[in-house]
Amino acid sequence: MSSSSQTPDLSHRLAGIADITIDAAISFAELTTLHLGGKPRWAARCATPAAVVAALRLLDGEGVPCLVVGGGSNLVIADGELDLVAVILECEDISIDIATGLVRAEAGAVWDEVVSRSVASGLGGLECLSGIPGSAGATPVQNVGAYGAEIADVLTRVRLYDRESGQDHWVPVADLELSYRYSNLKFTQRAVVLEIELQLRVDGLSAPLRFGQLAKGLGLSEPGGRLPAAEVREEVLRLRRGKGMVLDPADHDTWSAGSFFTNPVVPDVLADAVQDKVRTERGEEDAAKMPCFPAGEGTSKLSAAWLIDRAGFDRGYPGAAAPARLSTKHTLALTNRGSATADDLVELARDVRDGVHGHFGVQLVPEPVWVGVSID
Ligand SMILES: Cc1cc2nc3c(=O)[nH]c(=O)nc-3n(C[C@H](O)[C@H](O)[C@H](O)COP(=O)(O)OP(=O)(O)OC[C@H]3O[C@@H](n4cnc5c(N)ncnc54)[C@H](O)[C@@H]3O)c2cc1C
Repeated sequence: MSSSSQTPDLSHRLAGIADITIDAAISFAELTTLHLGGKPRWAARCATPAAVVAALRLLDGEGVPCLVVGGGSNLVIADGELDLVAVILECEDISIDIATGLVRAEAGAVWDEVVSRSVASGLGGLECLSGIPGSAGATPVQNVGAYGAEIADVLTRVRLYDRESGQDHWVPVADLELSYRYSNLKFTQRAVVLEIELQLRVDGLSAPLRFGQLAKGLGLSEPGGRLPAAEVREEVLRLRRGKGMVLDPADHDTWSAGSFFTNPVVPDVLADAVQDKVRTERGEEDAAKMPCFPAGEGTSKLSAAWLIDRAGFDRGYPGAAAPARLSTKHTLALTNRGSATADDLVELARDVRDGVHGHFGVQLVPEPVWVGVSID
């Protein structure tokens, strides 16, 4: 019997398991921050880590394709009927030990709740990661980061359900090989993060502030200082709102997947060529401001947003009539203005990627996970 014909039976079996609710009506447009994507066969809403494990054990055992979904803020999903089951993480417990600074969150906890509650409890270390949409369990998946901080700074271990071996166990953070917007979980679906554990600071102060714009906004003359975590969180949220990087259902600039392309790491010789081109086209002053950071072994990390802008893509590109546009606040966010299809978004992504490549010879790589669609 094919997995498709078994699906109704499977959904009944799953519905009989504690803390699993079947949702046959949901579409990905309702589950993703891009508000794009068609209908899965059905969704299993899992309210505890045990329910997540039980759902995946059953679905994997029957060979049914499925997609684990947290907050849907890093997903680009095709329109139409999708031949997969959505496993939605709704286990949301957060525990905070104020004395030791140890914080645990279940995978489905809203990430910004983890941040706001830890900051309100007088713990420091997460303030720069304020306002990032999505779930706690997804933070290790691409080592989320912002304003000079990343989850790797405070993550101690994660509870993983390994879908191949069936093991449910805690693994040390080193096992995930975290680096810039990467872990060995990303793009694999090989395992699910059920819980995360963080070690925060008990003195209520932020981690040293590494990001110049943030430090300046808080009145520090140079990066490196520490300030009360609550003060830093407010400033981070203020900066993020200005860039459309805090979700707001009424603001289409936030109907996005955040930064759409990762910052490219390129050979130094290419970084020099980009700077020369900008110098010729825009003058020495602009070229001297090119963001460029050593990335090891003759390579440099450039800013994707800066390259998109200098390649001639303005905010709001390609214009007010287009259903998918660059955000009017930030060139790195591709947005759905309300009526876009997944194909509209993919076309815009291709246009920007190819435009930057044609202008500078730099290949931008998308950050989100793609399901049923491709930029190539
Ligand atoms: C406005 C906006 C701003 C953003 N700003 C930032 C930013 O500053 N920094 C940053 O790093 N990112 C940013 N992002 C991207 C996004 O918020 C993060 O990647 C976030 O961690 C995704 O979480 P999610 O729960 O929404 O994941 P989803 O979109 O639901 O899933 C993304 C991928 O992770 C997998 N996944 C989800 N949960 C788990 C789990 N528990 N175990 C294993 N796999 C899992 C899914 O299967 C999928 O492949 C932004 C997005 C938006 C919309």
